[in-house]
Amino acid sequence: MFIDQDRCKRCLDCMPVCPMGAIVLAQKQVHIDYEACVECGVCRRFGICKEDAIRQVDEIPYPRVVRAAFSDPLEAHANTGVGGRGTEEMKTNDVTDMFQAGQIGFSIEIGRPGLGAYLSDMDKVVRKVTSLGGVFAPDNPVYPLISDRSSGALKPEVLREKVMSAIAEFLIPEEKAMGVVKELAAFLNAELDSVASMSVICRADERGDCRFLKQVKQAGFAPYPNGKVNIGMARI
Ligand code: SF4
Ligand code: SF4
Repeated sequence: MFIDQDRCKRCLDCMPVCPMGAIVLAQKQVHIDYEACVECGVCRRFGICKEDAIRQVDEIPYPRVVRAAFSDPLEAHANTGVGGRGTEEMKTNDVTDMFQAGQIGFSIEIGRPGLGAYLSDMDKVVRKVTSLGGVFAPDNPVYPLISDRSSGALKPEVLREKVMSAIAEFLIPEEKAMGVVKELAAFLNAELDSVASMSVICRADERGDCRFLKQVKQAGFAPYPNGKVNIGMARI
């Protein structure tokens, strides 16, 4: 995204619209900070500029286009066809059956509006998860960015790309999962430049109890339960 200086009247109306604070006033001109901008498209879609001075190039070049793919909800990821963070997400498990009994599903989300995250942080996450034996979801948009499956290294050219947020999803066998929770919690606190959150998904038994959730609480974590029930409308 950029601002056409021939059209811009320096009214400053667009500055508060950017969720990344990337629209700045410098040397009496309004600019988009190329490094801070995650190409989310909000400034243009909001329609704030009466002069139509907020412009987008015809085609965002690679690897910068990765920013838009992770940050603009109207931009579908090439491998998933899903916009935004590009994944159906684990809470739809009652439809997708991604997580079977004996497996714990994990997701690590990095970044948030206002802060964002560099994919170098995701590189650290994927390497760490790989070393812990995690099996990544192939239909997650982080997966095609992995260039070396044995180490978990991401493609070097995307590491300096900044996104609003990104999610890695993976499976861990239940018997190893509590150890992985502890390792990842310590790692995320110590090693990342951005913020991160960890989610786990486990199946409840027929009484609604979840053994793994009890283990998580006993280990001193305070999980925030997030349940969702799809009632099957439009399914046969
Ligand atoms: S809203 Fe448009 S005219 Fe006003 S400062 Fe932003 S780009 Fe310039
Ligand atoms: S595309 Fe998004 S991040 Fe970039 S200037 Fe516009 S609102 Fe800000």
